[in-house]
Amino acid sequence: MHTLSITDIHIAIEEKKIVNGVSLTIRPGEVHALMGPNGSGKSTLAAALMGHPFYTITHGSITIDGNDITDATPEERAQAGLFLAFQYPTAIPGVPLLALVRTAHRHLHPNESISLPKLKALAEKEGSTMRIPHSFLDRSVNDGLSGGEKKKSEILQLSLLRPAFAILDETDSGLDVDALRSVSEAVNQQLPRIGILLITHYQRILQYITPTYVHVMKKGTIVHSGGPELAEELEKTGYESFS
Ligand code: ADP
Ligand code: MG
Repeated sequence: MHTLSITDIHIAIEEKKIVNGVSLTIRPGEVHALMGPNGSGKSTLAAALMGHPFYTITHGSITIDGNDITDATPEERAQAGLFLAFQYPTAIPGVPLLALVRTAHRHLHPNESISLPKLKALAEKEGSTMRIPHSFLDRSVNDGLSGGEKKKSEILQLSLLRPAFAILDETDSGLDVDALRSVSEAVNQQLPRIGILLITHYQRILQYITPTYVHVMKKGTIVHSGGPELAEELEKTGYESFS
């Protein structure tokens, strides 16, 4: 069984310490909800896990199945099975979504040579869960899309690329109730095959995607961990009562 291990990780931006000693072990079928107030370091953790060069891992390690990827390039991390759905997905004008997915798919699954029409048909099928129009696939990645559409695009990429582990950074933000439900359904369809780090502010998405564990992050560290009931407690008491 695959294992993503994050051990005592410390992350800095330039000289500023942002994340101070986070440890998590994630396995397929598990959903780890990471909750915390604005600025607690959740996106910093997500970006550093994926190898964003702006963030320096000053201490600790990240391994997948025992292979150390702490210093790996983002491409190597993706090859090792890691996927990040961005809090703020970037537009890539001139690159159609289907072309991006096809290239990534080739790299991640070199032994499955899937033809473009087949991939397109699969994308249309996977996209139907989230009511994604077919025209989406021929349009440039995230270019001119609404906030909610960008989030759907991220999850469509997730379902087509089939990584071992997915980090979803506030996928729920910008989604209306119907979109939240359909996007959650698309995420649930990936379970139990993948392990998920689900970053969110709100308990709302956890009504659709049941967390195995809930972690509360404040000022760069996990101050409390528990089961699904912890999310409900947080909704009632807020983050203030945890320190
Ligand atoms: P969260 O996702 O939990 O809201 P972030 O990881 O985005 O938190 O931010 C954590 C801290 O790091 C904040 O104090 C934020 O101001 C700082 N930070 C994040 N990104 C940058 C950046 N690019 N430059 C400078 N500071 C940053
Ligand atoms: Mg964030």
